[in-house]
Amino acid sequence: MIVHVGIDDADSRIGGCTTYVASRVVKELVELGRSFVDYPNLIRLNPNIPWKTKGNAAVALRFSTDDPDSDFQLICECVVNNSEIHTGNANPAVVMFIGGEMPSELERFSERTLTDVVSSKQALSHAASHQMRIATWGNGMGVVGAVAAIGYKLDSDYTYELLAYREPENWGSKRGVDAESVRQMDRETYPLTFNNYDPKAKRILITPRGPDPVLFGVRGEDPTTLLRALSVLKVKEPIHSFLIYRTNQGTGAHLTRPLDTRRLKAYTSGYLDGEVASFPKITVGGHVFFKIRSESDEVACAVYEPTGDLRKIAVKLNPGDSIRVGGGVRPRSRSHSTVINVEYIQILKTTPGYRFLSPSCSKCGRRMTSLGRLKGYKCRHCGSRDERLQKLSEVLPSKVEEGLYLPATRAQRHLTKPLQRFGLEKTKSKTPRPEGVWYFFATHPQDTGLIPISPEILV
Ligand SMILES: [Zn+2]
Repeated sequence: MIVHVGIDDADSRIGGCTTYVASRVVKELVELGRSFVDYPNLIRLNPNIPWKTKGNAAVALRFSTDDPDSDFQLICECVVNNSEIHTGNANPAVVMFIGGEMPSELERFSERTLTDVVSSKQALSHAASHQMRIATWGNGMGVVGAVAAIGYKLDSDYTYELLAYREPENWGSKRGVDAESVRQMDRETYPLTFNNYDPKAKRILITPRGPDPVLFGVRGEDPTTLLRALSVLKVKEPIHSFLIYRTNQGTGAHLTRPLDTRRLKAYTSGYLDGEVASFPKITVGGHVFFKIRSESDEVACAVYEPTGDLRKIAVKLNPGDSIRVGGGVRPRSRSHSTVINVEYIQILKTTPGYRFLSPSCSKCGRRMTSLGRLKGYKCRHCGSRDERLQKLSEVLPSKVEEGLYLPATRAQRHLTKPLQRFGLEKTKSKTPRPEGVWYFFATHPQDTGLIPISPEILV
């Protein structure tokens, strides 16, 4: 029979990583001879929820077994042994659903976890109504992602990520990934891999910073390209293991629903169409704020300084520009109104800007001063006045072009759909069965010296 196992929140803010724990589980299941019917799924949930763990990632494993109960037991033990429960910072959950056909209400629940805020109570009630096996530790919040991952089908657009992990003794030390080889890999695999490198900041993006077990992660369109990318990388420390995940990263899936301007629910994600209603203002710290008018409501939008390129576009918007903004809802506080934290701007139609000027003096040519509304102007320099003169407006051509604008690569979220992926989207299709090399577990990595991965073992 086919079972679906969801694992979430096995990581914590200080270290660890849900995908690493999942990779340990996969190793055990592979050794038991379980047959996987899909690549492990790495599901990113609503990134605008502030109480998320690091990347808000959950994992689903789908395989056939004749002994789901003992598998569930084994998986729970593996999660306990490998996650950060002992530090009190992880709140893992393991959930198992038995059966082939996914209930449609479970799919809808999963879709909601991408854009909305859902409670562990709601997740538990779904789990209970579908007779799932459930194990939770800590505060039990992990159950949301675990149930969501099971129900998330990845049947429209999706991508892959090859995640390589470090030897535990190397956790916390500098990662031995050669930067030049990352740039070479990026050139050789473009456009089939993405977000390897930020050319403006000259920064490698495949390696996380921090003490977690991930050595690097390469994102791309298909497993074959990821293995090719791996063979180009020069890695100066042993690879403990790797796993290829199928994932919703890079699909923009959290920003596909319209936000309701009447009820901008805190921490939801989506998009809003409207007209720019005010000139953008730059605040202390370099953040850009402007208002968008949508269906007679005005909503404040914030484009933060680290978004780099996106911020540069935002400051050039003119009132009247017709745009779509995607992002998350930051709730009203004592110091500010409800704000959309902008993750992309699509300029649908530009309008020229304008500014009002006082007329020039006909005698001396200098700028005149208003005598009050509709009362004309006088010249403070030569004393001439003219009651009939009116304010002049000057048309300023738009400084932006229509199109889609994203934050700098380094500031993009896991779910952000990079520009290069437009046109590469996968369409509704059958679940791809894992084939070829989709995992690697070093048996005695201490004996292998440097890289245990060579192109030969990848074919
Ligand atoms: Zn004058």
